[in-house]
Amino acid sequence: MGDGPELSVVVPAFNEEENVEAMFERLKAALERTVDGFEVLFVDDGSCDGTWDRITALAKADPRVRGVRFARNFGHQAAVTAGVDAARGRAVVIIDADLQDPPEVIPEMVAKWREGWEVVYAQREVREGESFFKKATAAGFYRLLHAITSVDIPVDTGDFRLMGPRAVAAFRSLPERNRFIRGLVAWAGFPQAPVRYRRHARHAGETKYPLRKMLRFALDGITSFSFLPLRLATWTGFLVSFLAFCYIVVVIVLKILGINWAGYTSIMASLLFLGGVQLIMIGILGEYVGRVFDEVKRRPLYLVRESTDGSVPVVPPER
Ligand code: UDP
Ligand code: MG
Repeated sequence: MGDGPELSVVVPAFNEEENVEAMFERLKAALERTVDGFEVLFVDDGSCDGTWDRITALAKADPRVRGVRFARNFGHQAAVTAGVDAARGRAVVIIDADLQDPPEVIPEMVAKWREGWEVVYAQREVREGESFFKKATAAGFYRLLHAITSVDIPVDTGDFRLMGPRAVAAFRSLPERNRFIRGLVAWAGFPQAPVRYRRHARHAGETKYPLRKMLRFALDGITSFSFLPLRLATWTGFLVSFLAFCYIVVVIVLKILGINWAGYTSIMASLLFLGGVQLIMIGILGEYVGRVFDEVKRRPLYLVRESTDGSVPVVPPER
């Protein structure tokens, strides 16, 4: 690794054909004079548009560009992982392909890294061009996550960040399939510092994170870093049992006093209430069990169809 460039920039791209070239131009302008050599590693996450053609054309024209193409769409976090696995630079920057994260912030990150911070994360001061719903749910989610985990996951921070060589080594060693990257990097615990920035609107195309994926991603984050939902299930169980026992006493006393009334409504109400509570608790359990199943299967995180320089193996390294 010693003869690699100073910086690798990892860019996950899923159907981003209109952004690839603009991304590289902006990166080039921002990095050419600020770092001692860089490479840009595009990871095509199974795009079905012209993304891969744009990447190969760029790689032909400029040796600083490398591309990895997945066998299918393995997801954003898998794409970032593949990029970090294949990176040759001493430090690695992760950045979205859609130019929402401005490449002009990277020199600032590099400066902080050179000051001695192992991880420099970019914290969103403002988010432009995103719906009120997305902003509100994101803000709520980051705060909830921060409150319920013991790992210090910074709020309003995505994957846009710089990792030094130690953080990269730690990241590569993590075995889990279920990768909530912003949490994993924080979990590693190296000294981290923020850089504040304005998150712009997308350069082109539309979001690849519909509500369904956002929800799944949020659940991944919570289940990977907290047992609180399970504990909540236990507490709810105790609370409901306590209420039930109290009610049993009431019912027995009424029976002894000879007070009886037709019970259809109350029986239906308690039956349905308890059924609902039980199903929710089983659902919470299921979220964890499903993820455990995913982990024990130990399938590769991603599979590589091809890479521009042929250097990236089909199956990722054992970890
Ligand atoms: N992305 C990916 N695979 C996916 C979904 C997204 O590689 O399955 C990439 C996408 O191309 C972009 C980044 O992940 O570079 C963030 O996605 P997006 O901008 O759609 O998310 P948002 O910014 O709307 O949260
Ligand atoms: Mg985006």
